[in-house]
Amino acid sequence: MSFKSESFSQAAQTVSKRMEARGFSCFYCEDKAAIAAKINELMPSGSSVTWGGSESLVEAGIIDMVHSRDYEVIDRKSASTPEEARALYGRIVCADYFLTSTNAFTLDGELVNVDGNGNRVACLISGPSHVIVVASMNKLCVNVGDAIRRIHTHAAPPNAIRVGANTPCSKTGICADCLSPDCICCQTVVTRKSRQPGRIIVILTGEPLGF
Ligand code: SF4
Repeated sequence: MSFKSESFSQAAQTVSKRMEARGFSCFYCEDKAAIAAKINELMPSGSSVTWGGSESLVEAGIIDMVHSRDYEVIDRKSASTPEEARALYGRIVCADYFLTSTNAFTLDGELVNVDGNGNRVACLISGPSHVIVVASMNKLCVNVGDAIRRIHTHAAPPNAIRVGANTPCSKTGICADCLSPDCICCQTVVTRKSRQPGRIIVILTGEPLGF
């Protein structure tokens, strides 16, 4: 194990205890293979599974894994009309499992997310029976303010490019605190506790994933 991996593992143990105190369940997975195995272990065959837009999930191979296993997959991108998208969203909020990442998390164990449409943070807050959050240790921040700064500085600009948003940051790489029609920073959500113990399952990982 490298010095960095050892440090991530130690920090994850510390932060996990603080997350557990907030009603989250926590696991630490060293790498992508362990993340996929843990998610597969957590979700029984036949469960309805959906996800929010997440580069971390794609990079970890989780979306491919879900498609290859015996799950009822609900893919919001399969809708071809606004009516279909709305009907699909009704199924998404009632899914057994919602997979997502978090834009950042804090030393005290809070999850911090910034979202455009808000569907990702809406499902994190309420709806799906279980939420599995994959969080790379490189998203660990000192506090909520630091997390929001990190998101606007390092996460949102590449994310805006990823989704083809016509925003200042997608042209310059730097947040301009915009109010553009395409702004991907409409909602800022701090999840400080899960009222239903264990509904939110956080998988911390030493694998560098996402933005
Ligand atoms: S420029 Fe707009 S969309 Fe880009 S990071 Fe800043 S607030 Fe978000």
